[in-house]
Amino acid sequence: MTHPIFASDIRFQPYWWDEAPRPSLPEVHLPKAVDVAIMGSGYTGLSAALTLARAGREVMVFDAEDAGWGCSTRNGGQLGPTLHKSLKELTAKYGKPRAVAMFKEAQTAFEYVADLIEAERIECQFRRCGKFMGAHRPGRYEAMARELEVLRREVGFDADMVPRASQHNEVGTDAYYGGQVRHRNASLQPALYHQGLIDRVLSTGARIAAHTPVTAVAREGKGFALTTPRGSMTAREVIVATNGYTGDATRELRRRVIPIGSYIITTEPLAPEVMDRLMPRRRVVSDTRRVVFYYRPSPDGTRIVFGGRVAFSETDPRVSAPRLHHAMTQLFPELKGVKISHSWMGFVAYTFDTLPHIGVRDGIHYAMGYCGTGVPMATYLGHKVALRVLGSPEGATAFDDLPFQTRPLYYGNPWFLAGALMYYRCLDHLAR
Ligand SMILES: Cc1cc2nc3c(=O)[nH]c(=O)nc-3n(C[C@H](O)[C@H](O)[C@H](O)COP(=O)(O)OP(=O)(O)OC[C@H]3O[C@@H](n4cnc5c(N)ncnc54)[C@H](O)[C@@H]3O)c2cc1C
Repeated sequence: MTHPIFASDIRFQPYWWDEAPRPSLPEVHLPKAVDVAIMGSGYTGLSAALTLARAGREVMVFDAEDAGWGCSTRNGGQLGPTLHKSLKELTAKYGKPRAVAMFKEAQTAFEYVADLIEAERIECQFRRCGKFMGAHRPGRYEAMARELEVLRREVGFDADMVPRASQHNEVGTDAYYGGQVRHRNASLQPALYHQGLIDRVLSTGARIAAHTPVTAVAREGKGFALTTPRGSMTAREVIVATNGYTGDATRELRRRVIPIGSYIITTEPLAPEVMDRLMPRRRVVSDTRRVVFYYRPSPDGTRIVFGGRVAFSETDPRVSAPRLHHAMTQLFPELKGVKISHSWMGFVAYTFDTLPHIGVRDGIHYAMGYCGTGVPMATYLGHKVALRVLGSPEGATAFDDLPFQTRPLYYGNPWFLAGALMYYRCLDHLAR
């Protein structure tokens, strides 16, 4: 399938992989037993592996595909000190002390990743660029301004409102009714960050077995037996770090995460004066819709990387690309003739309470369900789940003991997604 806005050499894989291709890892022989087996080699799994291996545990990380094949090398590379839910929503549901604790934990997660990148000298184009959050309706601007007062008071949130009259200093569109600049937010190149984690994990002696799905996990003695197409092994502890790719090997967890496809395109390089006009501060951008668009400059500042949800049901990056391009030109009409160089997608994991979850189920540890905030949260909760395996009290988080809900008739295939998206689109449209 071709399209007039496809570049002649368009690639239907992440732009990030051009610079950080999927790694060819050393061939791994499965030992008979390890201390800890980790399912999933994204940020969660690798972060857990790093903490455990440095504490002297023998660790084996499995991935069903290439290492980092999931969201961790496909995402938008935006990091912020917030959760999917607002402080107001959390307070209404959990009371102020718990809500504030959860929000502060998100700030801690963000700083944990920033510190890790610096301490480990991971070259991943990490930049504290700040974020512009566009108000898609006038009432959303007012609501953001009201909530900012509370956020400043309760959690020291570092942001400023930007009225519509000066919006072009932040982003070259008239589509928003002003917005908010969040000063602490940052960006990075997701696949380079992931590669940095791989290198650090391998340097500890931990092993990563790519193309080795764990197909079953069962209790055996004091530990667990894991089955893979390449053979079986035992582990004293198991961590599930499969997020939006959680499958039937851990059926009860699969019933608790909702995989939702997120779609991204990258433009061909734009003239410097166009980038100066459209993204003058080179910040990352998102908006107040429930079904959001998120975008940012490429790390070299020459392209726009633009993501969001443009279909009610899951679709192909060949189909989503022209739709995302159309959404982008609604914001920036001057990009109408600009071609797309890359288009791809990945599965984000949502949860029924839209909060991340960490815990133990049937003796198996897990951390997942980051609801689109996984660049900081997956790394952080991967570290925390490892601390829990080590029996450290420092493994405690504000998300402990949250009931990890499912729903009747939900087995991991979100049949209700199209209806929910239609409903949220209507709310976005009707918002004042
Ligand atoms: C398009 C897109 C844009 C996003 N943008 C942002 C953003 O800007 N900011 C942000 O904070 N978050 C963003 N996210 C979310 C973020 O990328 C994820 O939350 C995070 O990467 C999750 O990391 P993870 O390690 O838990 O899971 P993943 O990176 O998804 O890794 C899970 C791995 O588990 C493996 N697996 C599955 N089953 C098995 C099995 N049985 N055995 C072995 N391995 C298995 C899979 O192959 C996969 O590699 C985005 C996600 C997508 C898809």
